[in-house]
Amino acid sequence: MPYSSAHSSEIDMFVVCIIGIVLLLLLGLLSFLAVRHMRESFVEKHAQAAIDQMHALNETYQNSVGQKVPGWNTAVQRVKLRSKRQFDTYNAKKEFTNYVARFYTAFLQIPLPVWRAYALGTSDIMSNVPTPNVPWYLFWKNYSALVEIKDHVSAQSYINVRWEWSYTSPQGRNSYSGFCIFAPADLYNALLTIREKRKRKESKSYQRSLMTPALRFAVMKRDHYRCRLCGKTADQGARLEVDHITPVSKGGKSVLDNLWTLCFECNRGKGAERL
Ligand SMILES: [Zn+2]
Repeated sequence: MPYSSAHSSEIDMFVVCIIGIVLLLLLGLLSFLAVRHMRESFVEKHAQAAIDQMHALNETYQNSVGQKVPGWNTAVQRVKLRSKRQFDTYNAKKEFTNYVARFYTAFLQIPLPVWRAYALGTSDIMSNVPTPNVPWYLFWKNYSALVEIKDHVSAQSYINVRWEWSYTSPQGRNSYSGFCIFAPADLYNALLTIREKRKRKESKSYQRSLMTPALRFAVMKRDHYRCRLCGKTADQGARLEVDHITPVSKGGKSVLDNLWTLCFECNRGKGAERL
């Protein structure tokens, strides 16, 4: 029966092909898994020294702080934005600083120098992670291996905040997202920024409190009760005011040298422009 034998050899070919394809797929899967495993152990091996340093630093930090260490490691902040415009102008660093400002007093239960030491220590460790020489079949570029190694190391620090923001259009047609990671150095910088802001605010209200009636009078007397810009006196209908030459908001002090007599019109006309 020639036909049936031809038929059966066709089936054999078919079966052989299927088995071949399945074997190839299996081989592919196995080598994928093998490479993934090798990548993981490569990253772990090259991160180990830095991770040990990080753990030692954590211990020092623990000891200098005492018992209650607020870990902020696993924290993920997710921000949903309401418009594309909000997404485009989203300033993660500013939002992070605002967030830290809300819990400023809680953060400062740990003194700033301790934050500073921890921030410097972690950035030191991170920047000293050496770029490894990577076999081509593990990573496309040495740089991407380094990124993975650093992620591995920074995950061990107490502060490692992943900040995500996203916007999805009403019909859900488009969605946009971004993220960044804040390290201890970012937290320390935020604390410094907030402290400076508060100091400036305090000094502003302090300088304003120094503007006593006696000081106003002394300034007007020195200026012979005339506007220093147009020369008008109160008798000529000018409403005289005492003004800061360098504004308090720009660090100007409430002292005779930084004060002058202006009339109402000249004071308003002058705006933000300063001599
Ligand atoms: Zn004037």
